Amino acid sequence: MEQATTQEALRKRLDELRQLLNEYAYQYYVLDKPTVADSEYDRLYHELETIEADYPEWINPESPTQRVGDQLLDGFEKVRHAEAMYSLGNAFSEEEVDAFIDRVFKQAESDQIQFMCECKIDGLAVALTYEEGRFIRGATRGDGIVGEDITTNLRTIKSLPLQLRQPITAEIRGEVYMPKKSFLALNEERDALGLVPFANPRNAAAGGLRQIDPKAVAKRNLNLFLYSGVYTESFSPVSQANLFEALEAAGLRTNSLRRLCSTKEEVRDFLRTISDQRHDLSYEIDGIVIKVNDVSTQQALGFTVKAPRWAIAYKFPAQVETTTVREVEWTVGRTGVVTPTAIMDPIALAGTTVQRASLHNIDFIQALDLRLNDQITVHKAGDIIPEVTSVLVDKRTEDSVPLDIPSHCPECKAELIRAEGEVALRCVNPICPAQKLAQLSHFVSRNAMNIMGLGVKVIEQLLTKGFIKDPADLYYLTEEDFLQLANTKEKSAKKYYTAIQGSKTNSLERLIFGLGIRHVGAKAAQLLAQSFETMANLQLASNEQIERIDGIGEMISQSVVSYFGQTESLELIKRLIEADVNMIYQGITLAEQADTDSYWAGKTVVLTGSMETYGRSEAKVMLETLGAKVTGSVSKKTDILVAGEAAGSKLNKAQDLGITVMNEEEFLRSIEKSEKSE
Ligand code: NAD
Repeated sequence: MEQATTQEALRKRLDELRQLLNEYAYQYYVLDKPTVADSEYDRLYHELETIEADYPEWINPESPTQRVGDQLLDGFEKVRHAEAMYSLGNAFSEEEVDAFIDRVFKQAESDQIQFMCECKIDGLAVALTYEEGRFIRGATRGDGIVGEDITTNLRTIKSLPLQLRQPITAEIRGEVYMPKKSFLALNEERDALGLVPFANPRNAAAGGLRQIDPKAVAKRNLNLFLYSGVYTESFSPVSQANLFEALEAAGLRTNSLRRLCSTKEEVRDFLRTISDQRHDLSYEIDGIVIKVNDVSTQQALGFTVKAPRWAIAYKFPAQVETTTVREVEWTVGRTGVVTPTAIMDPIALAGTTVQRASLHNIDFIQALDLRLNDQITVHKAGDIIPEVTSVLVDKRTEDSVPLDIPSHCPECKAELIRAEGEVALRCVNPICPAQKLAQLSHFVSRNAMNIMGLGVKVIEQLLTKGFIKDPADLYYLTEEDFLQLANTKEKSAKKYYTAIQGSKTNSLERLIFGLGIRHVGAKAAQLLAQSFETMANLQLASNEQIERIDGIGEMISQSVVSYFGQTESLELIKRLIEADVNMIYQGITLAEQADTDSYWAGKTVVLTGSMETYGRSEAKVMLETLGAKVTGSVSKKTDILVAGEAAGSKLNKAQDLGITVMNEEEFLRSIEKSEKSE
């Protein structure tokens, strides 16, 4: 009797779990808006697996454990994959990874097996079809059997070769992802526009790829790594290591952070090394995939209904911590949007101590049902920005206090506006000092005029003392002015003055970005400067002329035209000109760019030292795709040496031989130009 009751309860729980997981999967895969943390989803999924393992008779094809997660979206053609695209089994501890390795040894009846350990890129699986080397179709994983045709959108990814370097006919698979930097910039832009931010780069990438307008996709700055394929006559690697060589030889981008391991210890060492480094990577990874290296052993091991038996995904422990919120701070940004930040009891999270976390906007707060003194969970979005993920409502105590949503600007006390359809609160007072401070901080920031050392505290004092009102005033400041600020000695005064004066010669794109024109990010500023070449030309440009630029849409063009339509803007530019601030683009213009198309073609290049952005093999593939020959040692035949950090003897030799040396920044700029002109 008791057993029947337990069974009944388990059956009920099973139904409940299936329903929950299906709902979460719908929100995650279809809407790209997860409502619970991945770790919570994984916990429930594991619970379901455990019940199903005890009661296999309860398993049915509709169970989330029996199918690959994504559901198909309308609006895209459907594509049947050459072979099913599987998910991966998960391991949540090193012990589970060991157990997987033991299982492989046992099933393959050998312990002489090598494993390829790769980063698990937190993105979206895609399948690219190449016919005789030509890219003809790209699709999402979909339900594993059928995916969505996203060819046009995939073509916007610059590192995806439209033509391979070898006439391969095969379906090549990998992961499209959004770099952390782009993700953070996108969410910042969404916050400023009062739009709901994306929960993580994976959802932003997935949402990006499924947009109907390829121009909008291009703006998401997506990238991809390839790591598998459906083998054919013209593409038949014998191992995973060999597969990477083949992909690279064909000009496809792979992730160089991988290691071939022969023992559990080596695998464990790789897991730990990458786990330590992962916050420094430019893209997000959520684990390590461990794959049997040898293809014939892979084939002997085969697949379960959902995943290969020869691979497993080790998932990093969730970086979510619990703390208590004490206060909510409302800050005014440079466009007047007022954003809330939670001030919390300090916690250690993903390598740093965190006391503030983003709350985005009022809708976000209301959806969380957040009150002061509530216990909350916090994670780092894009591995960087702390963000509140949930409120532990069942732990709420009596001292919780409902939040006051401000009706007036916390700085200038003007009434706040909430425009129709917007989630953002906005201060529309044009002389609000907080907006001024944010605008000036933006003007001096690294990607804008890059006036080093001029921090918020200095700007704040300059504003309150009435020394400056707008960016042009900075250029009229003297060293004596700075000496009047608190704690400022001659050395600092000189440093501020020199940094400001030095920025006068910056190329035009920095100034355009620094002006803080709505919707004009660093990339749009670059495109505008490159196309119009001078500020005077840009000021006169019409909507139509601006929209003709590839990568710039209606929203930006309207914003630029309206900015230059205002007398205050014209007055500001005039005073910047009088202060001798450069108004000319100094990079390579569109006309000159044609010449750089073939810059790398036929050149012999050597790579040395380490680069922040690309691994050596990635850089090699890119260069080869552009027609360069990459060799290992410097000789008289070398045309260019690309020298990253800690370059040693090769750099000395190149300098002795008078060979052109490029640092990472120059290299990236040149690659970008060459890729843009493809
Ligand atoms: P998965 O993310 O656990 O692993 C499989 C995927 O890993 C592959 O499809 C591939 O896209 C990717 N991958 C990245 N790098 C790879 C590499 N080097 N080699 C091979 N594959 C690589 O499985 P899944 O089925 O894509 O997604 C399930 C996961 O999604 C869950 O574990 C959960 O974390 C998350 N999820 C969350 C929610 C939520 O509501 N928060 C809902 C559904 C799913």
